[in-house]
Amino acid sequence: MAGTAARIAYRRIAHSITSPRTDTRRREVLIERPQDVLHIDAIALAPQILDEEDAVVEGSTEPQPIPHKHPMVKVEPPINRIAHRELRIRVWSEGRPDGHHVGKTVTWSMAPLFVQPVEEGQVAGDPVFRGDWAQAAPEHRDRFELPVAFTATGFARISQEQATTTVDDSGHTAIRINLPPIAFNAARISVQLEGEDGAMELIDLEVPGIIVIDPGHGGTENQPGSSANNATSHTSGILEKTLTLDFGLRIRTALRALRLGVNSNVLIYMTRDDDRNVRGSDRARVGRDNGADILLSIHFNGANGVARGTETLIRPQASNHNFDADMALARRVNGAAYNAIFSHDVDARDRGVKSETALAVQSEGDLGNTATWHPLRAVLLEVEFIDNKAVDELLSINEGYEQVRQDICDAVSGALLQDLRRNT
Ligand SMILES: [Zn+2]
Repeated sequence: MAGTAARIAYRRIAHSITSPRTDTRRREVLIERPQDVLHIDAIALAPQILDEEDAVVEGSTEPQPIPHKHPMVKVEPPINRIAHRELRIRVWSEGRPDGHHVGKTVTWSMAPLFVQPVEEGQVAGDPVFRGDWAQAAPEHRDRFELPVAFTATGFARISQEQATTTVDDSGHTAIRINLPPIAFNAARISVQLEGEDGAMELIDLEVPGIIVIDPGHGGTENQPGSSANNATSHTSGILEKTLTLDFGLRIRTALRALRLGVNSNVLIYMTRDDDRNVRGSDRARVGRDNGADILLSIHFNGANGVARGTETLIRPQASNHNFDADMALARRVNGAAYNAIFSHDVDARDRGVKSETALAVQSEGDLGNTATWHPLRAVLLEVEFIDNKAVDELLSINEGYEQVRQDICDAVSGALLQDLRRNT
């Protein structure tokens, strides 16, 4: 509608071009002429986005309209401790040369978009930022930074929250945007052009939620912190290492299926996706090096053939900087797995969350967690005791056993996604 009004104003000027008028009046009308309609367009993003197999995601450098949430990236996450993306914009006015706005100052700012989920019936809170820029490497503690992939002239820091650049000869400028690297931390980026009232909202960005699935054991060789196999199923003889892989792959598939809408920026990595063993420290490092939020190790118990039940292990408080967060995650995962098993078997047993023993696959150093920076929550799910006859029948023999496995994996997947949003 604004466009139509502007065109009418332009025609009126054209028809009365010879009429006497004052400069003041003429200037007022000129503001409505179409060649003066200001545009600020997001035109490119960097770097390009890679999927879990390091393949380029097509179109990932092309900005989409608000409210599409463009993923941010974590480069060397344990060192930089920040998620970022770079944005190039074009500032132009219809019917004017590219250089029309050269040298004007562009002021960059952002507003939070993440809203903490609430229970049904509760009122949602205001959007907030997750995490704190102060935990980033010193050079990334501001929200805006000089970009590297794009040229930006006149970069100047105003405060932690704002920076300015200037429009260059070709009508462009650019910025690097930083957000604390917590799952689903999100921001709407705005710019204000010198001489214009109000800021213009440009683009939405979101930190991906990153989950690493770690199927226990594998292969034929023992590795430090990971034996090739431990438990063996009672009747079927199916090995723990085979079940952990089957469950891991099912959870990955389930998470991919849930990767829609508000969860579109979820990335899922695995420590192994075939029958081989991986040393314990390397499993943890898959989480650390990908900047993961969650590492879920999957195991099955074996004991005396009688014991059964679902339990989840976390590292003891004395050697765990994430103890409370791990406990919350473990409760979600354990409850989900137990409830799914109980829905098929009333003899299911909830053995709860245990934190007595150190876990070989999950040392703080390998996870990349320190006293001041501990982004990675890690738990180890012992789904059931497979040397128990009833459990083996439930998981691997009885008609419908595949559905039992699937229901457990679907439930665990839901718990992981819930933890990504509810964890604070
Ligand atoms: Zn095991």
